Amino acid sequence: KKTTEAGWNFDDSYTSLPQTFYRKQMPTPVASPHLVILNGSLAESLGLDTDILQSESGVEVFAGNEPPEGAEPLAQAYAGHQFGHFTMLGDGRAVLLGEQLTPAGERFDIQLKGAGRTPYSRGGDGRAGLGPMLREYIISEAMHSLGIPTTRSLAVVTTGEAIIRETEQTGAILTRVASSHLRVGTFQYASKFGSEDDVRALADYAIERHYPEAAGAENPYLQLLNGVIGRQAELVAKWQLAGFIHGVMNTDNMTISGETIDYGPCAFMDTFDPATVFSSIDRQGRYAYGNQPPIAGWNLARFAETLLPLLHDDSEQAVGIAQDAISRFPKLYHAHWLKGMRAKLGLFGEEDGDKVLIEELLGMMHEQKADYTNTFRALTFGREGDSALFSLEAFDQWEKRWQERTGRQQESEEDARSLMRNSNPAVIPRNHHVEEALEAAVERGDLSVMERLLRVLSHPYEHSPEQEEYCAPAPPSERPYRTFCGT
Ligand code: AMP
Ligand code: MG
Ligand code: MG
Repeated sequence: KKTTEAGWNFDDSYTSLPQTFYRKQMPTPVASPHLVILNGSLAESLGLDTDILQSESGVEVFAGNEPPEGAEPLAQAYAGHQFGHFTMLGDGRAVLLGEQLTPAGERFDIQLKGAGRTPYSRGGDGRAGLGPMLREYIISEAMHSLGIPTTRSLAVVTTGEAIIRETEQTGAILTRVASSHLRVGTFQYASKFGSEDDVRALADYAIERHYPEAAGAENPYLQLLNGVIGRQAELVAKWQLAGFIHGVMNTDNMTISGETIDYGPCAFMDTFDPATVFSSIDRQGRYAYGNQPPIAGWNLARFAETLLPLLHDDSEQAVGIAQDAISRFPKLYHAHWLKGMRAKLGLFGEEDGDKVLIEELLGMMHEQKADYTNTFRALTFGREGDSALFSLEAFDQWEKRWQERTGRQQESEEDARSLMRNSNPAVIPRNHHVEEALEAAVERGDLSVMERLLRVLSHPYEHSPEQEEYCAPAPPSERPYRTFCGT
């Protein structure tokens, strides 16, 4: 295959998998596509020509009207536990255009989300709305800039067609970039609906694509399991440290690569409270902030189950191997979290009392309903205003112990400060700012609000005057903030 003028350079390794894993599926053409936003720096890193991408022919690609020459679009099959219930799913509104081979030799899935019906659409229309696609664009790019592994957003186009939800919405398509779209749910699909050979083919594919070092291991499938457990432990720790609530941690929304995927109902926590839930459909709080680590462990156990026949010929031994691996997750997660929390407080090295010191701070933050991001920001950049937390006597005592702790380390105060600066974002995508940006873009066609927000979010660890107005928590409101699964 040859590279197109725009720089599209597709491969289709996914089609080497057994036929059961996908269906060839062209995107459904749309009436009148219009480019809303293009991620220039991401495009360049993918080896794409931004001028051509913005031209009419480029936009036709993002709209699904004219896939690049040589593309063989497909929809992927997968299943998953949604809120604990197993369901057959699959790409119901997404089409994989191909795998872009970049100038740096990397491989990324290029997927059009909202590209029309597929064999897996069930009752859905295969389409997406402009608001939710821009929301995914903003938050996924913010996550990337925060240093949290994630799928990325290359472009959003409107389709010129309305979609019907509770109200009529502007139809849109997001071009999503991922190191792959393999999910825990892809393995569940293979395990439930395919043969053992299918599971093996998928596991071999995942190893080749994401864990090549496992191929030479004594038990490559155990290495794969351990690899995914390790990356998810690190990922979920990063979510917790940043105050990110995914909102819909169904097994189909957990990647094998260790990237965050599915920006439907996610949101950043403002007031620190482990019980925080934003998703309107999560009535039991299954995916509350404080539940994310155990839910990740639960999902990984579902992943391990799919690998049982590959782990050992003897099924009892296989279960033992899987249980051993899964039982390490809480500790692994905790180690990443503790390391990250130490950094947030400028602590080098390890002391036994560190965990208690951190938990005491979080306890006070919870009691005082302190803003999660701004508390760490204030500890880092200096305190202003009269936060309830900082006027507590208990806080003074805590601060004394914190200073004693940093006083015992060899690193200078300046080193500690710089560790904190690199670990505590000055800005996160605050819900009210995201909503403002979306309202301007969707209701008034004014993209400037979103572009400014994106610019500020692109360097979250720099403390700059431009950021100041993005740091305040939302003004108090009668109704708590609510999110909805991407419509
Ligand atoms: P999610 O809750 O975002 O993980 O999506 C769950 C499933 O619903 C996935 O299989 C999606 O492809 C499918 N889905 C979501 N919205 C639509 C839609 N408008 N049309 C068809 N399928 C959809
Ligand atoms: Mg999903
Ligand atoms: Mg979704």
